[in-house]
Amino acid sequence: SLSIGIVGLPNVGKSTLFNALTKTGNALAANYPFATIEPNVGIVGVPDERLPKLAEIFGSARILPAKVEFVDIAGLVKGASEGQGRGNQFLANIRDTDAICQVIRVFNDPDVTHVDGDISPKRDIETINTELIMADLQTVEKAIPRLEKESRHNKDKKPALEAAQAALAVLETGKTIFESGLGGPDLRELHLLTAKPFLYVFNVDSDELVDDALKAQMSALVAPAEAVFLDAKLESELAELDEEEAMELLESVGQHESGLSKLARVGFETLGLQTYLTAGPKESRAWTIPKGATAPEAAGVIHTDFQRGFIKAEVVSFDDLVEVGSIAAARAAGKARVEGKDYVMQDGDVVEFRFNV
Ligand code: GDP
Repeated sequence: SLSIGIVGLPNVGKSTLFNALTKTGNALAANYPFATIEPNVGIVGVPDERLPKLAEIFGSARILPAKVEFVDIAGLVKGASEGQGRGNQFLANIRDTDAICQVIRVFNDPDVTHVDGDISPKRDIETINTELIMADLQTVEKAIPRLEKESRHNKDKKPALEAAQAALAVLETGKTIFESGLGGPDLRELHLLTAKPFLYVFNVDSDELVDDALKAQMSALVAPAEAVFLDAKLESELAELDEEEAMELLESVGQHESGLSKLARVGFETLGLQTYLTAGPKESRAWTIPKGATAPEAAGVIHTDFQRGFIKAEVVSFDDLVEVGSIAAARAAGKARVEGKDYVMQDGDVVEFRFNV
């Protein structure tokens, strides 16, 4: 499954955030019989208010939300791209993830020292991006002479060479590939770190959660990447509380949702994923598919046999289903569609697959 790497300078609250993630995630993982959780992996459910409504309609015994996997990637220090600290391991670990989540310190606390002396989100973002850009420069500078040589004998290699040259031009200006909008399969082959989608967590003091001016300022630093504002310390306290107590604590700081929930939603979106829904007496469940997946591909997420033996899908959109109140009523009202193998899944489709085994 796809994962998001959490990176950041030392002392910005990564472990605090990560511990909160694993606490919530372990509770969730109990619902997934085959989920094995490694120490540096945290799983969060993607909050989806449609699931409890489905569970009510179908009398489902349990709810299984979609999930996002976060990987704690330690070792980002200045000079990581030159192998400082455990720099090489850091780069290898981050290469394996599908998106990069940078944790940036905004909170003030004289007892927690900052590696560079004072609190400066803008400088910290630049420090991290510089390391990632330097690592990519090394990759591209190694690839170009090889691709030049190869494209002399094989003109099919020309597009790959051009992609690498375009990437070099971007990186040399100190920009990430993500910011530049460059893409395509030839570029993807280079596995550049800064070509992955980025998202930012600003670790703020709880009173800053309602500081709209500050949040606008931080968001502007990282656009077009998404920004999530949370207080990691508060999140770790929330993870210890039951739902009602957690809600009370959140409301006392002007919030209606935990930072981890926001992070899960934004992370899911950043990975380019979407869900479709299934429901029955056993469970109401959100299944994860890439945007643009077809009905047989969606069926394959449940079981590979479902994809192979796919016949058709009966689809009702969630809104229609809620309006009429049951699948039978949806059928009677002509709102249940039968879709074939070319159907592209839409967010909020409630689906039942028919297949040969
Ligand atoms: P890491 O090095 O990035 O993993 O940072 P840690 O999670 O270990 O946090 C470093 C220190 O900052 C610890 O003493 C945390 O308790 C503290 N800390 C983390 N997040 C917050 C926060 O949101 N507010 C405050 N005041 N302290 C925090």
